Amino acid sequence: MIKGEDTFKKIISHSKEYGFIFPSSEIYDGLSAVYDYGQNGALLKNNIKDYWWRSMVQFHENIVGLDSAIFMHPTVWKASGHVDAFNDPLIDNKDSKKRYRADVLIEDHLEKIKEKINKEVEKAAKRFGDSFDEAMFRQTNPRVVENQQKIEDITSRFVSALEENRLTDIKSLIEELGIVCPVSGSRNWTEVRQFNLMFSTQMGSLSEDASQIFLRPETAQGIFVNYLNVQKTGRMKLPFGIAQIGKAFRNEIVARQFIFRMREFEQMEMQFFVKPGQEKEWYDYWKQERLRWHLALGIPAEKYRFHDHDKLAHYANAAADIEFEFPFGFKELEGIHSRTDFDLNAHQQYSGKKLQYFDPETNESYVPYVVETSIGLDRTFLAVLSHAYKEEKLPDGSERVVLSIPPLLAPIKVAVLPLVKKDGMPEKAREIFDSLKYDYMCQYDEKDAIGRRYRRQDAIGTPYCVTIDHQTLEDNTVTIRERDSMQQDRIAIDHIARIVGQRIDIRPNKNQ
Ligand code: ATP
Repeated sequence: MIKGEDTFKKIISHSKEYGFIFPSSEIYDGLSAVYDYGQNGALLKNNIKDYWWRSMVQFHENIVGLDSAIFMHPTVWKASGHVDAFNDPLIDNKDSKKRYRADVLIEDHLEKIKEKINKEVEKAAKRFGDSFDEAMFRQTNPRVVENQQKIEDITSRFVSALEENRLTDIKSLIEELGIVCPVSGSRNWTEVRQFNLMFSTQMGSLSEDASQIFLRPETAQGIFVNYLNVQKTGRMKLPFGIAQIGKAFRNEIVARQFIFRMREFEQMEMQFFVKPGQEKEWYDYWKQERLRWHLALGIPAEKYRFHDHDKLAHYANAAADIEFEFPFGFKELEGIHSRTDFDLNAHQQYSGKKLQYFDPETNESYVPYVVETSIGLDRTFLAVLSHAYKEEKLPDGSERVVLSIPPLLAPIKVAVLPLVKKDGMPEKAREIFDSLKYDYMCQYDEKDAIGRRYRRQDAIGTPYCVTIDHQTLEDNTVTIRERDSMQQDRIAIDHIARIVGQRIDIRPNKNQ
């Protein structure tokens, strides 16, 4: 992956040019932080969903799916804590009139100090060569120790101020650290205020009896309120999981970075219900299992890292993010949270209905604990796309843009291309297209020279191009061109389906 702002801009314009992502309501100049998925984007998105759904629901006997409504009873959000606590602290710069999340300003500042430490360590590693003892260096180098201490001091002040909702202390911290607005460069800040991220609307036709309801900010609550329905009708035994894919809505304060932070987005969440006391074990299991799911796509391991949380949400007793190295740096892609029995207990309390599990092994009833895996579909899309985007110089001096999308996820699996538009080649190509289309998403293209057609397929990440030429009409063979190596082989028509099938096999160790 190529890094940096420039690349990010190129990815955004490539996404638009090749029908992956369009700004919403573009003819009206768009709607901030809302996007539409085009013809190729919709396919890629569906393939990511399918990969997740199959990995969760189809490959685990004890995980089942759910599709709950976006609208829910308003008390759900009172019980879950979202009405009172789903806030971000916001701050405005009076000169640029730009709005920021106060916590993000501080976290970015901490990140800069961490970078200083890393540079110091890198320099020393070079200087000392093989004899370098990194742990010792980190403990003893005065500049590193001083910066590490700074990080710890700032973090503890920041975490306690956030936890206790002391907004003036957060503002003081921003002032003391000398944090400036990236746009105006000034320190002319407003007070810090809390801002609730839920969108609300009215249900009912008359304003007198209409009630305020919310657009769900996460899909998880639909799972919690249905947990007993599913457990009983599915005769599920602990531990078991419920998985769901669906839209979520958040009125994000700072909605930049394309589809990384949207106001309408999609989540793929799984709540895993376990016996109390076993949550730590399952939390560790799901952390590893989820990372494995990412790595199975063939994206290099160094693009991912865990970030264990210091500041835990009100419902969690352990939490970690899987971060991905986007073109703008490492950022959260997925969260794994040990949510305790917080949600089920709260819904018991607010609804007055028992949400206990009867354990046939111990003859006891109790409220299960929950381990959640929560991943953003759009962020996964962006991770895949930003890793896949490559500009290559070819041996003949020409250039190409290729999307090396993992074949399993590629929008189109096979392009079927008659070399020329005559001599029976289009007819033969259609025949091949028709025989493949029931198994694979294919595209037929007969326009322009073959080289240009290859480029078009490279640009949307099609793993295979099949070309029908004169020889095909004689001996039923075609050339098959592989996207990444651009290697071409002559194969029998009957072998196309098998070759493609092997490449997109989801079974462990078969992929790639
Ligand atoms: P962040 O800290 O980036 O705001 P979060 O910690 O609030 O994210 P969660 O509530 O844990 O996110 O949501 C789970 C996942 O949903 C995230 O890991 C992310 O992939 C996705 N997600 C959350 N908010 C957005 C958004 N505004 N746009 C796109 N995806 C999102």
